[in-house]
Amino acid sequence: MHIREQLAIPRQLPRELDAEERLDNFDEVSKGFDEQTALVEANRCLQCRKPPCIMGCPIGNDIPRFIALMRERKFEEAYWTIRETSSMPSICSRVCPHEFQCEGACIRAKKDAPVAIGLLERFLADWMIINGKNLSPRCAPKNGLKVAIIGSGPAGITVAHALSHRGYNCTIFESLPVFGGMLSVGIPNYRLPRNIIGAELYALQQCGVNVKTGITVGQDLTLSELREQGYSSVFLGIGAYKSKRLGLDGENSTKGVMSGVDYLVKVLTGHEIALGDRVLVVGGGNVAIDVARVALRSGWKNVSILYRRTRDEMPASKMEVHHVEEEGVDLQFLTTPTRIISQNGQLTGVECIRMELGEVDITGRCVPRPQPGSEFIIEADALIGAVGQKVIPVHDATVPVEITPRGTYVVDPVTLQTSVDWIFAGGDTVLGPQTVAKAVCQGLDAAESMHRYMQGLI
Ligand SMILES: Cc1cc2nc3c(=O)[nH]c(=O)nc-3n(C[C@H](O)[C@H](O)[C@H](O)COP(=O)(O)OP(=O)(O)OC[C@H]3O[C@@H](n4cnc5c(N)ncnc54)[C@H](O)[C@@H]3O)c2cc1C
Repeated sequence: MHIREQLAIPRQLPRELDAEERLDNFDEVSKGFDEQTALVEANRCLQCRKPPCIMGCPIGNDIPRFIALMRERKFEEAYWTIRETSSMPSICSRVCPHEFQCEGACIRAKKDAPVAIGLLERFLADWMIINGKNLSPRCAPKNGLKVAIIGSGPAGITVAHALSHRGYNCTIFESLPVFGGMLSVGIPNYRLPRNIIGAELYALQQCGVNVKTGITVGQDLTLSELREQGYSSVFLGIGAYKSKRLGLDGENSTKGVMSGVDYLVKVLTGHEIALGDRVLVVGGGNVAIDVARVALRSGWKNVSILYRRTRDEMPASKMEVHHVEEEGVDLQFLTTPTRIISQNGQLTGVECIRMELGEVDITGRCVPRPQPGSEFIIEADALIGAVGQKVIPVHDATVPVEITPRGTYVVDPVTLQTSVDWIFAGGDTVLGPQTVAKAVCQGLDAAESMHRYMQGLI
């Protein structure tokens, strides 16, 4: 196809459920591309000689190569190209913030719209699942060495995937009753259906990975006990699931005030949480947006999000912001809560203040400053804070692994080895709350180092 023809093709849109169709259920909102649409979109890729999209992908997927194979309808080969670098294409293709990663770097983003790389990857992963294909490469013969992986999120899954395919006997220990970390108890079904997580779990188990849920390391089992049980190396992929406080008086003691991650974990593991008619969510990232959308789907109709900066600074992906507004959530920008108002220990309202943006800080964003005298009160039955998370390190005095003042694990930046030579760490527990792709990237690096450690190479 001539480049002029390619440039004339507009970015293709996926099929989506209408806002009214999705509010009383957790069905996946985006239905992805059908084959015809995927092929049209694949033709938009200009096959750059120095592809910036690969640089934009935290794990360096060979995007132009898989798209070139797709165009020839070699869907299985295209999928295996992605699998060379990614431990979970079906998941990353759905939840990665593509606009800040591969698609943000796509050359077409400069003048027009980037190639829909995430949706093309998703088409291939779904094609494999729909056609009953094995999602994992052939397993290597077992080498007799045992590895313990603490935490079943993307970082732990990636280590298990990489090391089991090198012959190591991998066991994942997970404190929750479900597998998947934040994929299962943070990101809701309407963005990541559970059968997709199930397909990746099945692929891991096919290669002999053992998953033990309901075991908290440091509590039910110590790190030194794992060592005594013959595990040659341990990976800590325990995430950053403890919500940061809003910093308001009465936050811990007022009924109706809770944290976003706790709320999602409870609802997504089958608990019913009564919020009340007027729900306020605080934050501007994916967690805040998911809390609002889950609250709506759980029957609470009057939901607002308060964010202290403007729409342009929101860390949530644009698509999520678009969806939450379509679903009827009211977004209040340049607004932050300052005081909890309660009666008999139950939240009844929140005092807020308007903000203005000041100078740019080291993160490159403008610092929000309160506008004196702009306080106002919003009536509320629930206030849910989603303003960041922190790490809760494994409580284990038997093996003291060094942590930073932020509570993250101290690791060698290249090998991800901790202060204890047989223990490695990665994902949110090292980086602080980040993304699935960054956790996958650290899982890949840690697996490589653990392999070298167990082979006596470091
Ligand atoms: C609501 C929400 C929405 C998000 N949306 C997106 C998104 O759209 N795109 C994106 O890229 N990222 C998103 N993220 C972030 C992403 O989910 C995380 O960055 C990623 O899951 C981190 O992976 P991880 O493996 O490091 O940790 P986690 O996924 O947090 O997994 C850690 C696991 O370790 C377990 N664990 C902890 N302590 C112990 C212990 N002592 N013993 C045994 N098990 C333990 C935990 O129960 C947990 O299951 C979202 C996060 C949340 C909360």
